[in-house]
Amino acid sequence: MDARNDLRLPQIEHAGVHWCAMKWCAMKSSCLLFIVLLGLTAAAQSPLPVRVNGQRIHEHLSSLAKFGANPQGGVSRVAYSDADLKGREYAITLMKGAGLDVHIDAAGNIIGTRAGSGPQLKPLLIGSHIDSVPMGGNYDGDVGSLSAIEVAQVLQEKQITLRHPLEVIIFQNEEGGTIGSQALGEGLDEQRLNLVSQSGKTIREGTRAIGGIPEQLASVQRLPGSIAGYFELHIEQGGSLEREKIDIGVVEGIVGILHSDVTIEGFANHAGTTPMDQRHDALLSAARFIETVNQVVTSVPGRQVGTVGWVKVEPGAYNVIPGKVVLGLELRDLDEKKFTGLFSRIRTEAETLGKLNQTRFSFTDPVITRPALTDKTFQQLIGDTAKSLGFSIKVMPSGAGHDAQEIARIGPVGMIFIPSIGGISHAPKEFSRPQDIENGANVLLHTVLAFDRK
Ligand SMILES: [Zn+2]
Repeated sequence: MDARNDLRLPQIEHAGVHWCAMKWCAMKSSCLLFIVLLGLTAAAQSPLPVRVNGQRIHEHLSSLAKFGANPQGGVSRVAYSDADLKGREYAITLMKGAGLDVHIDAAGNIIGTRAGSGPQLKPLLIGSHIDSVPMGGNYDGDVGSLSAIEVAQVLQEKQITLRHPLEVIIFQNEEGGTIGSQALGEGLDEQRLNLVSQSGKTIREGTRAIGGIPEQLASVQRLPGSIAGYFELHIEQGGSLEREKIDIGVVEGIVGILHSDVTIEGFANHAGTTPMDQRHDALLSAARFIETVNQVVTSVPGRQVGTVGWVKVEPGAYNVIPGKVVLGLELRDLDEKKFTGLFSRIRTEAETLGKLNQTRFSFTDPVITRPALTDKTFQQLIGDTAKSLGFSIKVMPSGAGHDAQEIARIGPVGMIFIPSIGGISHAPKEFSRPQDIENGANVLLHTVLAFDRK
């Protein structure tokens, strides 16, 4: 056995201290020299790992946060506002700096492209949004957008050419109903374009204000199967990752939503002269109904949620027994069958309740937003990538809507979540730790690299 062969053993074991190596060291009594040699060999063999620049993302987030900054520490950067326009200008500057070829599509989305080496391959999309709700925070959408730009920046700096063409997209007006991403997916109809947004402008006016051309919207719509995929990094907007001390959430889908208006009719009568056993109190039935919704939704295992979010009482006076109540019922889950099943059960229970309280329940036809599932192989890829970077993961649904749900209509999508501190979002106190953001961006970068290699 010559010295060269002898050296191989510890190399195979990497940093682990192998007993053979120990023995070798003891025998030769030149342990120090050996370790130095080992270190040099390892350094020569493995180049510095490709990583995002966490500090740079942090600086970009801070700079973006200035546009529309509110005194509470968050932002009010609603789509089509001056702050939104300035934020978009800033993002375009960063995208150009990252070597992307930038244009604004007819829907007003900002798209930065980077050519791939395989011209026949479909584009891979990454991105998010930078518009906010009124009195929003500095992380919702911004983390995913700036991290997607960072991915392009790293590719440029490391001179990595992907096989797939890459598109970094900042979708317009996500908070006002995923407008920009919908334009790529199912398209925007006249009714949508005429809706008045938070900025006071209609979607049509707003789209024009940010450089889109509403008359040419059809040109941005993409056919199902026309993209290789879409990855979006986003803050969780709930508290489970932080609570469970998990680094990365692998999103299995964006929940579907059911809405129905429930009317309860009783009989309005004098609150002083009508005895308790002779009332048809619509609000009392409503109160019991709200309790019932909670019981039905929690009666089966799973992560489904159910809420009564608003109540209107008529006539609404101290001295009149409520004669009519209208309330809003919402159910959410990844499985449409599950929430429609719960809805049927709630209706049955309501009928019984109505008879008991001598009131009548009626429901409007449910309005359903279908769940959007992420791609199973994308979930696997994100999970494996995160684990290979040393992060803990959790597969979880997204309770909030995202651009990814619209893009799921045209191709496979994957979403990466990072912890939201305290589960706070859509508020100035929204916060994600710089380290978590860096972790998420690294998972995004390496998921893109791994996807491209396949
Ligand atoms: Zn968002």
